[in-house]
Amino acid sequence: MIPITTFAGQKVAVFGLGHSGLLSAQALLAGGAEVVAFDDTPAKVEQASAAGIATQDLREVDWSQIAALVLAPGVPLTHPKPHWTVELAHRADVEIIGDIELFCRERAAAFETSGISCPLVAITGTNGKSTTTALTTHLINAAGGDAQMGGNIGVPVLALEPFAPGRSYVLEVSSYQIDLAPSLSATVGILLNVTEDHLDRHGTMENYAAVKALLVEQVERGGTAVIGVDDQYTRATADRIERAGRKLVRVSVVGPLRDGYYADGDRIVRGVADKAYPAVELVGIGALRGAHNAQNAACAVAACVALGLELPAIQKGLASFPGLAHRMQPIGRKKTASGGILYVNDSKATNADSAAKALGSFHDIFWIAGGKPKTGGIESLTEFWPRIRKAYLIGEAAAEFAKTLDGEVAYEISGVLAEAVTAATRDAEASGIAEPVVLLSPACASFDQYPNFEVRGKAFTDLVKALPGVASL
Ligand code: ADP
Repeated sequence: MIPITTFAGQKVAVFGLGHSGLLSAQALLAGGAEVVAFDDTPAKVEQASAAGIATQDLREVDWSQIAALVLAPGVPLTHPKPHWTVELAHRADVEIIGDIELFCRERAAAFETSGISCPLVAITGTNGKSTTTALTTHLINAAGGDAQMGGNIGVPVLALEPFAPGRSYVLEVSSYQIDLAPSLSATVGILLNVTEDHLDRHGTMENYAAVKALLVEQVERGGTAVIGVDDQYTRATADRIERAGRKLVRVSVVGPLRDGYYADGDRIVRGVADKAYPAVELVGIGALRGAHNAQNAACAVAACVALGLELPAIQKGLASFPGLAHRMQPIGRKKTASGGILYVNDSKATNADSAAKALGSFHDIFWIAGGKPKTGGIESLTEFWPRIRKAYLIGEAAAEFAKTLDGEVAYEISGVLAEAVTAATRDAEASGIAEPVVLLSPACASFDQYPNFEVRGKAFTDLVKALPGVASL
């Protein structure tokens, strides 16, 4: 845990007592602050009390005595409407911040008081954040560094090891967290992409894009902004940063760049003043298939170069990247008479857009899809039909998906995952295709049959591993 000393002797209100909220309270206490914590769910309040944290209904505290309100990132700051604690804090002119802000202030304090300087890579974007965060961390550590990974990826930032010489931090930051971290100022800021999402929380697209842009606009002096420039919002952000004379690296996977990193097939090329230099190869790296992963990889590579890593070390690290669970994750291979079946767990694909990424990354697909359907179903996926040998439909969406596929793609209604895995394996084996792929990419939420996508992905992985003759990957 990173003790937070910047509020020592002051009283801080903490609202939202999930994993990260509890840790914020504990880190503040460990650093000498007085904490008063609360949540709208009584069980959470009890849990905090049991952990030794002082709790009180924040409607009843004297806000003139509160130095800051630390808010969990899921609590609405503005949209759809400010949470009641936000209104109380505003009325009392109390600043509202999140755990990433606490981390950033502590990092600055560690530098000022002890001269400890820890590089910080902060990563945001609509898609690919977790992959890029895990990959960047892996590349630094594979090259012999000491990188700590946290933030939105599931490990609260204050749970990480304290600041120490030679240590760096790689943080996944959601737009909600940026809203709550006004002094987030990274050594390298990565903005991957900005597409429509989360408008419920940010109101307009312009507002959402502006929040994301802050992460790269605020990189520290001498720091670097790495920006994927394949959409209009990030392109505008990059132009603005360049005009301001800041260090900028552009990244594209749709075309060459005069200056920056871009994908050319499976290769990432570096353009420098109109000259092109091969940087790294992604060919054969199972965990980084697809153009979307080339974007993630190119951004991670650019960040590591900015931190001073050498390309050969980066290349080596790329080759050993295991990938993230449930995101186009190769999990097993079964030898067949004609070659081998590859099993891929893409349980994280809870909508059609996400499934499109996986369907576009493989050929000869035996596709397991379905679950709790989302609006629009799989009608947007027609361009991938030629890649699909057969579909195995599960869950509530089965009948609706069958209607969409009827007459276009062979399918059967499997109902449950176990049945789908057996049938897809049987058909892939009988097909005589050298390298068929059995792909779970549901294009649906999991809630009809599973508590979440992780449990669904684990169930799929367990079923595959139990098949005779499957070697785990
Ligand atoms: P996030 O953390 O932003 O949700 P992840 O790295 O967990 O992103 O990837 C989630 C899914 O988003 C992947 O399974 C893939 O379908 C898609 N994806 C990943 N990277 C990108 C990207 N750079 N651009 C578009 N889609 C992506």
